[in-house]
Amino acid sequence: MTQHFIVIGNPIAHSQSPKIHHVFAQQAGIDIHYQRQFCPDNAESFMAVIEAFFKGGGVGANVTVPFKQIAYDYCQAQGSLSEHANVAGAVNTLLLNTDALKNGVPHAKALYGDNTDGQGLINHMLSLSWPLTGARVAIIGAGGAARGVILPLIQAGVGQLTLANRSLNRAEILVDALSNANQTIKEHAIKTCAISDLTGQFDLIINATSIGLSGETLPLDDELNGNYIYDMMYGRTLPFLQHFSARGAQVSDGYGMLIGQAALSFERWTGHRIDVAKASQTLYQMQK
Ligand code: NDP
Repeated sequence: MTQHFIVIGNPIAHSQSPKIHHVFAQQAGIDIHYQRQFCPDNAESFMAVIEAFFKGGGVGANVTVPFKQIAYDYCQAQGSLSEHANVAGAVNTLLLNTDALKNGVPHAKALYGDNTDGQGLINHMLSLSWPLTGARVAIIGAGGAARGVILPLIQAGVGQLTLANRSLNRAEILVDALSNANQTIKEHAIKTCAISDLTGQFDLIINATSIGLSGETLPLDDELNGNYIYDMMYGRTLPFLQHFSARGAQVSDGYGMLIGQAALSFERWTGHRIDVAKASQTLYQMQK
């Protein structure tokens, strides 16, 4: 029987999720239909689309910009959340919690929200054999993507974490909020600074800003160096990666993170664990 999935966003035409999930389904040997779902940018429309989708027999939904926080609010009020979604304050994966079904009919608490973005990033870096245990890590950016990756990084065993942001105040507010929400994060004592004050040697530097979209460049200190450099953006030449690559660092863009987070969503929905390296190879070939 065909299982139905959507990715809901605004805009949504550019989304690569249908292509990625159909590659996964082929690998898993199951029949799926996964489509892009445009939605007007307001909470009422989002809730109406999601309710209609699940009432119509839909199995799972991915949530992208600008609805991740709305999905979080919705699950918090009328459903349940994974630890990662709770800490991230954002949901990228929705499914029905079958424990909360009464006679097969969804009722309060039935919708379950997860966030696989952060673990998708970790899985990608591990697949590249980047050493995370004890690593001194700097994250640049303090928006939703940075927020979602902090707990998974700590759980992966990294050492000292520094969060640098254009607006220092926003970085401080984020670290305070996360430390209040989660004891593991509190005990990690994350440092904060402005981007231009981020300096010295790190094992891993992650760009979690949206600057790649603007054509601007980050005000990086000349003494800032890293062995492994990750940019969450993908699909274009990234000045951030070029800067560190020229200094001999190993670099990666965020396409593998996109595939990694999708693989975890797919597993939550279908129970099938994806061979991400194999799926990535197919997807990279399809891109050429
Ligand atoms: P947000 O809008 O929540 O946050 C944007 C961040 O970028 C803020 O820290 C902001 O700083 C910073 N920023 C924006 N413009 C500039 C600039 N000109 N100079 C310095 N800093 C700047 O975005 P998200 O956190 O949701 O997304 C961040 C990036 O991560 C995006 O590029 C997104 O595509 C990518 N991403 C990739 C994923 C993947 O699977 N590969 C998954 C999720 C996200 P300030 O606070 O000062 O405004």
